[in-house]
Amino acid sequence: MGTTSVPRWDEERRIAGEGRYVTVLSFGDAALDQARSLVSSFEGRRVDWIRLPEEWGDTAAQILERQASVARVGWRLVLVGPEAAVLAGRSAAVAAGLLDDEILPLPVESATRTVYCAHCHSTHLAAVAIGQGTTCPACASELVVYHHVSRLHAAYLGFAVDAEERR
Ligand SMILES: [Zn+2]
Repeated sequence: MGTTSVPRWDEERRIAGEGRYVTVLSFGDAALDQARSLVSSFEGRRVDWIRLPEEWGDTAAQILERQASVARVGWRLVLVGPEAAVLAGRSAAVAAGLLDDEILPLPVESATRTVYCAHCHSTHLAAVAIGQGTTCPACASELVVYHHVSRLHAAYLGFAVDAEERR
């Protein structure tokens, strides 16, 4: 498996390793194996594992909100699944008051990412790698996807190709 090191997941993994209570949210079938081995690696701590659909949605948002509302010190949230769902989950968790250190995002291989258009401020899903191009469906800008994740929008930042060249 090639490493797409956006953000620095390894570092986040280390930071999140100190929790005493862990909730694992897994998104879709593709995440089950990794979630299962994670759950067993948390032996000795209290672990809840909640399986969710592959795509982030209202159910996931409600579950996360409920979990966050009963959270206590030492709680860690682990998000396993397609990158789009994991980033949406992290964004929601931060909005619910969790600290970055308390969230462990673990994206599994995924062909699609959420791209935030820097020009018209819309987001769209695209099967695109970092550094490659995608066309914004809202404003038709030809975007290059950058190694930068907007926490607010839970999306990769996309800049127009010619805007970059003019710099
Ligand atoms: Zn756009």
